[in-house]
Amino acid sequence: MYFKDIKSLSHEELRRFLSDNGHKLYRAEQIRVWLFKLMMQAYEGLNVPAELCELLKTNFRIKSLREEIKTESSDGTVKWLYKTADDFPVETVMIPTETRASVCVSTQSGCAMDCVFCRTGSMGFNRSLEAGEILEQIINVHKYFSKEKQERTVTNVIFMGMGEPLMNLEAVHRACVCLHDQKAFAMGKGRLTVSTSGIAPGIAELLDRNTPCHLAVSLVAADNETRESLMPVNKRWNLTELLKAIDNYLERSGEWVTLEYILIKNKTCTKTAAENLIRLVKPRRCKVNAIVLNGNENPELQAPSEQEVNEFLETVRAKSVQINIRNPRGRDILAACGQLASIPCKAAI
Ligand code: SAH
Ligand code: SF4
Repeated sequence: MYFKDIKSLSHEELRRFLSDNGHKLYRAEQIRVWLFKLMMQAYEGLNVPAELCELLKTNFRIKSLREEIKTESSDGTVKWLYKTADDFPVETVMIPTETRASVCVSTQSGCAMDCVFCRTGSMGFNRSLEAGEILEQIINVHKYFSKEKQERTVTNVIFMGMGEPLMNLEAVHRACVCLHDQKAFAMGKGRLTVSTSGIAPGIAELLDRNTPCHLAVSLVAADNETRESLMPVNKRWNLTELLKAIDNYLERSGEWVTLEYILIKNKTCTKTAAENLIRLVKPRRCKVNAIVLNGNENPELQAPSEQEVNEFLETVRAKSVQINIRNPRGRDILAACGQLASIPCKAAI
């Protein structure tokens, strides 16, 4: 297996690389401390034999993303636009609250899923990211905090930036394992959330692989017709198949699943839509995160009024279904859900 970034290698693979090249195995641990505890982004200073340092340098990049633009929202949210070594755009968002700092990472440059309400969908797809490129986004936020002398640390990682995580499951799995690893980022499983637009077989694979993460599913709409008109993925795996995968996940994992529901005027924010949602959620160990539609490039899709949103929430809550409304963050810098599009992909090539 060949990776371009050293952070993409599992502990085991790094050990194998070292032993194949006649180096001591304990170096693997030393290198991982350098990468994930000290978060160094250069080989210089790494206390290993010069020959090993040279070998690493010629085989693996230690830094893959270059910062292009950093923008700060009036609400404290920060968004970075990076370019990969092959010049594709990747965006990362840091969302601070009083007690937490969540990092929203991209798993791909662009997205191929083509959801009609999402700006990332409209920019098209460039390529999947390596695990090292995903991890580097988090490292960069740690470095930003220390540079800014902020007494903060990254408390949560949400895989909700550009891309469909379950279309890049190998890299997402590796990133989660590293984030969870006591000897690397040491983050609890509940602090890592992977969100999917509904790749049903990928949901089962997360369990098969025992990926340390919480699962969120972008339900968006609770009936097939509406969902299919908004998300092409519903043609491949419709609600029946998606719910089968979710039920299977609930049963095998014993966990909760978060359902992301987008409130769109006259589509998903109506009385009938509320009833469909109740019917779907009531029998399941799921909680709903509702998000009012953020600005997108589709003139046919509008955000509902405040009154429509409140009526929807009341109808759902009246049936004791747990629904939270997510406060939009970073809208002024296009950092909110579904707004990450940087530049159109054609311009990047
Ligand atoms: N591709 C994955 C993860 C990234 S999208 C997924 O779809 O789940 C992150 C979240 O933003 C998803 O829940 C998606 O439904 C939501 N989203 C996309 N466009 C949006 C918009 N215009 N307004 C509000 N939420 C949006
Ligand atoms: Fe891709 Fe998620 Fe946007 Fe759909 S909502 S286009 S899956 S990033």
